[in-house]
Order: sequence, then C-alpha cells, then structure tokens
Amino acid sequence: MNQRSSVTALPVARLIDELGKLPGIGPKTASRLAFHLLRTQREEALSLAEAIIEVKDRIIFCSRCFNITEQDPCAICADTTRANTICVVEEALDVVALERTGYYRGRYHVLHGAVSPIEGIGPDKLKIQELLTRVERERPEEVILATNLDMPGEATASYIHRLLVPLGVNVTRPASGLPAGGDLEYADEITLGRALQGRRAL
Ligand code: ZN
Repeated sequence: MNQRSSVTALPVARLIDELGKLPGIGPKTASRLAFHLLRTQREEALSLAEAIIEVKDRIIFCSRCFNITEQDPCAICADTTRANTICVVEEALDVVALERTGYYRGRYHVLHGAVSPIEGIGPDKLKIQELLTRVERERPEEVILATNLDMPGEATASYIHRLLVPLGVNVTRPASGLPAGGDLEYADEITLGRALQGRRAL
C-alpha cells in the first residue's frame, strides 16, 4: 500500500491496490475502477462486494473432476446417464463452453491451467496426477485432451498423452476447426462442436 496516502484516502488506496492484483488490470485501470466504484450507488457497489464473498463462500471444486460447483461431487459427475469418457480441459470456463455445444455427453477433468515453463507452471501445479488416478480407477472408454491449441496447451496434451499410454486408454484430441492459439472458451459453439466430433486418436 502507498504509505504516502493521506489518512482519508487510505481506503481508496487499498481498493486500487486490491483491484490492481487482478489479472489484466494495470495500475491505471485499477485507479479508474476504484474511482468508478466511489461514484457509483452504494447498493451497486455492495452487490459487487457480496458477489465476491458469495463466490468464495459457496463455490468449491469437485473432488472428482475439479470443476467449480456448489456441491461435491458436481452435477456432471453425479449424473449417472453421462458416458464413461473424460474430456480434459484447462479451465472451468471450458466446461461451460463445451456444455453449450450439446455435442458432448461425458464427464470432464479440469486441470486448472497448462504447462508453461516461461510462467513457471510445471505439471505438479496442475491436476494431472489426479487425472491419472481417476483414469486408473474409472477406466474411461476415451480420454479427450481438449486443452487449448496454443503452445502450452499442446505441450500439456502431449505430456499427459505420454503418461496415459502405459495405462492402455484410448486418447484423442479435437482435430481442427479451432483458431490457432485461440482459447476454447472463446470458440463459437458450432466450431467447437465440429472440432469435438472430428477428434483424432493420439
Ligand atoms: Zn465433478
């Protein structure tokens, strides 16, 4: 926190500080947001604060697939009509995108990121060991590696593929149709559905 702030401005400095910790928010944007919140109606600002508290208090990770959920296991894992396949994605947002396509009726596994040596994200930071344990226990008919088609996503897919080979499981990857370097969550539903249908064996 900025120690030079006057006593009255300290809460504002703190808000700027906190907002600046968010991804993609630089000091300039943090200040703009803070002053926007200062001017905004009290109810509106409180509603934002409450939404943050609610998400932290009520949302947990599914102990099976690590998707975000209010109950453990999540609704998808608890759904017995789902196919015994595992679609591996980087983020919980990818599950939302794939569910929207309506093409996929199996289960998921959320890694919570991708392997990226530049950003210091090693395989141990992701839910990869949990995936291997799951594959051994659940014996899925297929594991679809639907990580992003950018460099970290490709590296993650091939890393996991190498670990899955000895387990004798059928591994596939969505083939085409996704924009290169594009995140799954941003691909439109038809493109995503097509990419999923046209997956290739690894
Ligand atoms: Zn789950």
